[in-house]
Amino acid sequence: MADIAISGLGKAFGANRVLTDVSMHIRSGEFIAVLGPSGCGKTTLLRLIAGFERPDTGHVAFAGQTVSSTAHHTPPEKRDLGIVFQNYALWPHMTVAENVGYSLKVVGLSTDERKRRVSEALKTVALTDFADRRPSDLSGGQRQRVALSRCLAARNAIVLLDEPLANLDVHLRAAMEDEFTRFHQASGSTMVYITHDQSEAMTLADRVAVMDAGRLVQFAAPATLYREPATEMVAAFIGEGIVVPAEDIVANGDGSARAAVLGVPVSLRCASGEGARKRARIGLHPQDIRIAGAGETGMPARIKRLSYRGGGFRAEAVCEAAPQTILAFDLPEQAPIAPGALVSLAIGDGWVIPAAA
Ligand code: ATP
Repeated sequence: MADIAISGLGKAFGANRVLTDVSMHIRSGEFIAVLGPSGCGKTTLLRLIAGFERPDTGHVAFAGQTVSSTAHHTPPEKRDLGIVFQNYALWPHMTVAENVGYSLKVVGLSTDERKRRVSEALKTVALTDFADRRPSDLSGGQRQRVALSRCLAARNAIVLLDEPLANLDVHLRAAMEDEFTRFHQASGSTMVYITHDQSEAMTLADRVAVMDAGRLVQFAAPATLYREPATEMVAAFIGEGIVVPAEDIVANGDGSARAAVLGVPVSLRCASGEGARKRARIGLHPQDIRIAGAGETGMPARIKRLSYRGGGFRAEAVCEAAPQTILAFDLPEQAPIAPGALVSLAIGDGWVIPAAA
């Protein structure tokens, strides 16, 4: 078992600053995801944790032992790490069993012990019957299970996964998500899962580290990211986030606030340190928006588009007071509304995004 302490990590490639002051503590046995748009530095962070790159600033420690700093570098093969790549990285000339057992041979385990661990690991990922096949005779999902069972057999304290589902089709992805959860339960390893797919991150991880342009912007449980985004980027990136402007914010001191959103008074949630602010940005999800009831003050908006979502429609409406603001919400299948209709929208449960530090 090992925790991972990352402190002040920075990395540039030439003039391209890729990571800036990244600090986080990953608890022993925790499953975390690193999530962010393409190019935000996720893979570079993983490569620094693995030891394939050296940091310009900061350090990384596993179980209290520094493995990376400007002064010290433990080579990747000495870090007790398993790595699962999107391209599987299996030896093509070896059978499944040989692939799984290879690292055990390298560290000098006895033949009996190797056999026992390989058969146990293959059983856990339901590949016992495939032990004698070569990787070329397996499906993408099966190859990824071989890569996982290799980490199980090696009993790595830390397992890093770099977009492991990127090459799999959507049905296989769902099945593999279950596989990762089972793997985590069986191994107890500390897992760091890199992805740009928020639904993967939110489904799998205990906590998600959201990165934006080389910085860690929020590291929290999925529900916290969804309900209490720390920045506008997180608010827009998580769920089907919608960010709207608000004015005259007054916090009530109990985690609730009042404000005007596009001229309409609304009740909101806010951080405990929130006071009064003239302007703020509000994070919403389609679930927080609905057609206002009779007698309720709503926001006039015109339906721009309806798309069928199975059992109902996703509506997009343009606010009359601010044509650049588009609100998305769900309508039941029977809703008698057509594109072009003027509706009145009520907002509930929005979050006041904290002021930038
Ligand atoms: P993606 O999701 O597209 O893989 P990412 O978030 O993993 O993106 P990185 O692969 O870490 O991002 O890349 C971040 C930036 O660093 C990019 O601009 C990339 O071009 C640059 N970069 C990464 N590795 C190197 C390298 N070895 N030399 C030069 N630039 C690099």
